[in-house]
Amino acid sequence: MKVCQAYRFALDPSPVQQRALVSHAGAARFAWNWGLARCQERYEAEGKWYSAAELHKLWNAQKKADPGLAWWGMNSKCAYQEAFRDLDRALREFIMSKNGQRAGRRLGFPRLKKRGRCRDSFRLTGVLRCAGRNVTLPRLGTIGTCESTRKLARRLDNRSARILSATVSRTAQRWLVSFTVEVDRDVPDRHARPGSAAGIDLGVTRLLTGVDDTGTVISVAGPRPLRASLRRLRRASRAHSRKQPGSANRRKSAARLARVHARVANVRADALHKATTSLAARYETVVAEDLNVAGMTRNRTLARAISDQGFGRARRMLAYKTRWHGGKLLVADRWYPSSKTCSGCGAVKAKLALSERVYRCGQCGLVLDRDVNAARNLLHLAVSGTERLTACGGSVRPVPDGQRPLNQEPGTAHAGKTRTAARQQAAAA
Ligand SMILES: [Zn+2]
Repeated sequence: MKVCQAYRFALDPSPVQQRALVSHAGAARFAWNWGLARCQERYEAEGKWYSAAELHKLWNAQKKADPGLAWWGMNSKCAYQEAFRDLDRALREFIMSKNGQRAGRRLGFPRLKKRGRCRDSFRLTGVLRCAGRNVTLPRLGTIGTCESTRKLARRLDNRSARILSATVSRTAQRWLVSFTVEVDRDVPDRHARPGSAAGIDLGVTRLLTGVDDTGTVISVAGPRPLRASLRRLRRASRAHSRKQPGSANRRKSAARLARVHARVANVRADALHKATTSLAARYETVVAEDLNVAGMTRNRTLARAISDQGFGRARRMLAYKTRWHGGKLLVADRWYPSSKTCSGCGAVKAKLALSERVYRCGQCGLVLDRDVNAARNLLHLAVSGTERLTACGGSVRPVPDGQRPLNQEPGTAHAGKTRTAARQQAAAA
């Protein structure tokens, strides 16, 4: 089964290489803005845009004609080309979103990118290599990495993987390269533990609470460094808000804040990866609840906001990891009241405040941890095989990448949901 996977490494560039990376990111930004301006001009005149290929052709003519653009040769031509492709995609997604053909929140018209206000990033294609503790990129040459690339290098050596592209980006002053790799994975026909199932509830205080088919409670606490980092994050953001806008101290505190943010994100992603890997290996069927992720973005508390970001991510991880193990992820429909239902007698409460951490049933007297109760309900759904479930992440059988079911991002949207979203938007408008 061929799957697309990302392999990401932190780079350790020399000062000269760092300048080259900054220059490439600048080139990508310039190309995006240049292309956007051309598209807008044409749209005003003819009502249509340029495709990525057309922009590339225009750019090739312009860069030779305009002496002001003589610097173009300092950067790989891929940086420009890929920026045009990104712009092309952004414009198409914008149109799809406008016509209600795209799931999720409504997208705005692509905007100009401004240095320092947008993420430094560019993509390269062509000859991309990695070995030991370095990677080789076109034009940029061999750059050291902070960690060994052996896992990917081994796959490249035995030809079970092929690098499609490399995206280089900067987060909190650290340069990262993310290879998009087509990997040939051995996917078993059946899960190693057939019939095993677990219902899981992604939580706020705990990372994850689950109940499996033997009745065992699975509890994954949020990683301790995360709690410590959250405290630091709170302090850093308070300190940042006190700094004079435009001052050097403000700039320094912004950098510090970004570093803490990046660390929180890393720690959390790591914990989620570990938890979802072990779930996918242990259970053939994993049942999770559907969450209106788009509707949850407006939260006041920091911890809540951060765990919200994790929900969608954990779901996507579970969708592909269960598939790699021959299992599947099922998602309860969005209106299924997993938290409000009693897992003992099935009574449904009308109201349940988020602060009530213990579920007390008025009908049968069941007293159970709120999250465990929700997880048990989800597991019951899987066992009873009701219609309130949707298989997630597309087909369980191998599909070539890029041919996923329409309107279905891996593990995030179901068929039908997009239309509902469109209807809701239409109603709101
Ligand atoms: Zn009950």
